[in-house]
Amino acid sequence: VRFVRGHGRLTGPRTVEVDGETFEAATGVVLNTGTRPATPPIDGLADTPFWTNRDVLRIDTLPSTLGVIGGGPIGAELAQALARFGVRVTVIEAAPHLLGPVEPEAGSLVADVFVREGMTVLDGATISRVAYDDGQFTVAVDGQDLTFEKLLVAAGRTPNLDDIGLDTVGLDPSGRSIEVDERMRAGDGLWAIGDIVGHGAFTHMSMYQSAIAVASILGKDGPAATTAPSRT
Ligand SMILES: Cc1cc2nc3c(=O)[nH]c(=O)nc-3n(C[C@H](O)[C@H](O)[C@H](O)COP(=O)(O)OP(=O)(O)OC[C@H]3O[C@@H](n4cnc5c(N)ncnc54)[C@H](O)[C@@H]3O)c2cc1C
Repeated sequence: VRFVRGHGRLTGPRTVEVDGETFEAATGVVLNTGTRPATPPIDGLADTPFWTNRDVLRIDTLPSTLGVIGGGPIGAELAQALARFGVRVTVIEAAPHLLGPVEPEAGSLVADVFVREGMTVLDGATISRVAYDDGQFTVAVDGQDLTFEKLLVAAGRTPNLDDIGLDTVGLDPSGRSIEVDERMRAGDGLWAIGDIVGHGAFTHMSMYQSAIAVASILGKDGPAATTAPSRT
């Protein structure tokens, strides 16, 4: 196996370019580019030095206060981790419950635990503006200005489909996901797996789909994607 570090981009069927070097595949190409943190369209937010999930894992000093925009699984787990390190954390969630589409009871239970642990949870909240000045974030939420030393944004993910040359193989680069068949085939000599196929953004789903794609690439019968575990 040859490992190449760089940004890969399809330039046509079975052809990938990485930093000026072109690779032609005899059998095909597997797309597995995952997602990146999304920036929600909140007035002022994009101009501030907010943290994503990647930034928060690189810190070596703790802020005294942290606002977390987004109370889904990623925002919730990072919020609780920082709170347990002693940071005063406020989770701001637009939906009526934490944890997104899971059962509302689960979201309420987690919110209760967070409050018991000293965190502030604002659900059903609307943020109208975010500003950063003099080392401090100000978040306008439902008519009040909240201030934080740091701000983590965990409000959705963007699939990495926009810059991988999908148009060169007849696929839509602006789509939310790539459509695949039960063998993870996205086209002639093209397979796609993981978050970008839109069947549950979980590590185990990506691994499960990779086994199906490998079996398909090798021409062997593998487990069909239609029997994949449902989203949990
Ligand atoms: C903070 C956080 C916590 C999570 N916790 C859990 C959990 O507890 N359990 C769980 O099941 N899931 C969890 N997930 C989701 C899980 O990480 C994803 O579902 C999983 O990583 C998706 O795998 P993937 O194979 O689609 O791609 P990824 O793991 O996203 O990997 C894609 C790779 O492709 C690279 N790449 C992108 N574009 C290109 C390009 N053009 N050229 C070359 N390389 C490129 C990226 O840099 C990345 O390394 C979590 C996600 C986050 C962000």
